[in-house]
Amino acid sequence: MKDSRVYALLGVSVCCWNSVVATNPQKQMNILFIMTDDHAFQALSAYGHPISKLAPTPNLDRIAQNGMLFSNAFVENSISTPSRATLLTGMYSHQHGQTHLGYGLKPDKKFFVEYLQKAGYQTAIFGKWHLNTQLKGFDTYKVFDDQGEYYNPRFKTPDSGGKYIREEGYATDLVTNDALNWLVYRDKNKPFCLLVHHKAPHRNWMPDLQYLDLYDDITFPEPSTLFDDYKTRGEQMKTHELSVANHLGYAFDLKVSQLQNEPTLEYIKASFDMAMNTLTPEQLRVWNESYDKKNQEFLANRPEGKELTEWKYQRYIKDYCRTIKSVDVQVGRLLDYLENNNLLENTIIVYTSDQGFFLGEHGLYDKRFMYEEAFRTPLIIAMPGAKKGVKCTELVQNIDYAPTFMDVAGLEKPEDMAGESLVPLLNQTNKIWRDNLYYQFYDYPAVGMTRKHYGIRDKRYKLIHWYGRGENSQDRNIDSWELYDLKKDPTEINNLYNNKRYTKRKEQLHSLLDKKRKELKVTE
Ligand code: CA
Repeated sequence: MKDSRVYALLGVSVCCWNSVVATNPQKQMNILFIMTDDHAFQALSAYGHPISKLAPTPNLDRIAQNGMLFSNAFVENSISTPSRATLLTGMYSHQHGQTHLGYGLKPDKKFFVEYLQKAGYQTAIFGKWHLNTQLKGFDTYKVFDDQGEYYNPRFKTPDSGGKYIREEGYATDLVTNDALNWLVYRDKNKPFCLLVHHKAPHRNWMPDLQYLDLYDDITFPEPSTLFDDYKTRGEQMKTHELSVANHLGYAFDLKVSQLQNEPTLEYIKASFDMAMNTLTPEQLRVWNESYDKKNQEFLANRPEGKELTEWKYQRYIKDYCRTIKSVDVQVGRLLDYLENNNLLENTIIVYTSDQGFFLGEHGLYDKRFMYEEAFRTPLIIAMPGAKKGVKCTELVQNIDYAPTFMDVAGLEKPEDMAGESLVPLLNQTNKIWRDNLYYQFYDYPAVGMTRKHYGIRDKRYKLIHWYGRGENSQDRNIDSWELYDLKKDPTEINNLYNNKRYTKRKEQLHSLLDKKRKELKVTE
């Protein structure tokens, strides 16, 4: 495995060589793309949500202060691997093939990093890869096995012979160390494209030891829809397994290890053992000391009903925000490096997540649904030469990242990329922009039991179609529609599909959706 000493050795020789042959300073813009896993915009303080005010992210906010905050950034399929494939290809899930979490990416699809590498960029990725396919287009990489581990994670590198090797430390810090090492010892005559993909704040929200007690004295505000009764929704909201009230595991998710034998979903039970086995005995001692203390009061006087859900929500949101604390601090280290090495003037910095997340809205944790909190994703971009501290309300989507990077590198967008470059938005020179977005979620039956659905969203309305059934289950086929007026009903509790006053609007959205599906050649 290439550790820092090996990089250091490489670096010395590369630097000396550079000093001899360097004639032309680089012209192409560097790219730093930082993507977290499941980071809700509600927990990023530049977005101003009440939760983030109690758990601020000052370093992520620095990117917004120096760039553009996108308040209408969305994904096209709210789950990890489809989003990652979309980032790399600029395509919708049905085009690149990774429609489901576990499978699908077509091997002939080209990644944007392949084009950049050919154009002279140094390319690297550190952290979460997750795709069940070979890495291509990267000069180097150091990536987690599958979902990755928070503590002492295992990594694969080009030199590890296909093996994953465990390294002691906290994932968010280790990934940042690797990214910094690579930056320090890169070939400074070439532009770079660096992808930093964190595990945090993915489930099961394991904070770094130094932040275990952070936010202990705070009570986070509950979302107004924590106790959503789904009154206007169809049966799809009665069968999911993603509620704060009923589906978080006491030991795995809520860190009450004393209740590890309480009935829970089977996969949660196995996950708890796997997660805790990664800690060293000393780490485990500090961990248990902190949570045992917190759990005492809960175990002595166990709440029930609404109070229990409220307790679960507080435990969940605090651990979630604690993992983001590490992300924020570590992103700060990367920004400091760029600043101290005069790289800000020639580096586009992008911060985003692979999708959004529910922080109790509609009673949910997790993602998958086309409701705003999961469908949206945080997106902040600081591009040299562009106006700073501005907000963009245009509808952008993760299909746009790859075309943006092609544009930044001065390359033509390949015909098969579905998205559009965001550069005209960043420069505020765009004349026209899209006025609606297509979404589709396919992965059912699967963890969370979110039914298949697709839909369209414009700047004000959203139409969702819940359809189909599980492949070999006893499920009934479902065929149910939802329509929301996001201006009047931003929390999406009032399904207007059968409201006569919206008949005309409904017809317009139906025809827009039909047109879109034909255009995109969606077959499912
Ligand atoms: Ca994710």
